[in-house]
Amino acid sequence: MIPDALTPAGRELLRRGADDLGLDVAPHEEQFARLLALLRAGNERLNLTALKTEEDIVLKHFVDSLTTLRGGHLDGEWKTLDLGTGAGFPALPLAILRPELRLTPLDSIRKKIDFVRETAAELGLSNVTPQVGRAETLGQSAEHRGSYDRVVARAVAALPVLAELALPLLRVGGVFVAQKGPLSEEELDAGRRAAGEVGGRIIEVDPFTLPVSGDARTLIVLEKQRPTPAKYPRREGVPTHQPLF
Ligand code: SAM
Repeated sequence: MIPDALTPAGRELLRRGADDLGLDVAPHEEQFARLLALLRAGNERLNLTALKTEEDIVLKHFVDSLTTLRGGHLDGEWKTLDLGTGAGFPALPLAILRPELRLTPLDSIRKKIDFVRETAAELGLSNVTPQVGRAETLGQSAEHRGSYDRVVARAVAALPVLAELALPLLRVGGVFVAQKGPLSEEELDAGRRAAGEVGGRIIEVDPFTLPVSGDARTLIVLEKQRPTPAKYPRREGVPTHQPLF
């Protein structure tokens, strides 16, 4: 049995952050408390995240992950891939708050996905199917290409890289929600051009600040409008080392 780890101050911070997003986190507090405990225990073994204090984890992992719900693009029974989930962010907080989402957290690092799988099982999250692999490989596989309603990513790569990795995985009409820090005009422009090249369009740019800390964030929403040309995504590592724009 894992002891609950959230202190009264941590619970208050989680509530405040969720309130700010119009979310009711109260019914899920015990799951977040267990997630905090598991993350801390996992971190000692696996060095999963640089964030170590309760305040940092609650704000910069839990609340920050839930900001991907802004705009309502993830409201629905969507088959959703979390590209580069790391220790399970935003996938695990989303799976807790939105049990109707069918989530595939994806990462190329096996030990991270093992942690996400064990943690999802401990939390009783039956809507999470973790997957080890690279987005470049899944994007060219018959099983995954064009098969997701939603792709979400937090803090993984520059926008043009993300567009090439995410859009092939979406069905036409599907939506990609990318959460990033502050976004420059150059990156946005390169992202727009890359989106066009891989079959999509940026439909929303939502700059906001994280509650309490005031850290700048941007949610960028892309819609897939036509099939991605077969040559994308290019082979492993190429999207990152030679971005489209
Ligand atoms: N999204 C998590 C978060 O916000 O805490 C992790 C962010 S971490 C900076 C980026 C993660 O993306 C790493 O775990 C890395 O292994 C994974 N990653 C990067 N490129 C990837 C790719 N092409 N396919 C799969 N995973 C990838």
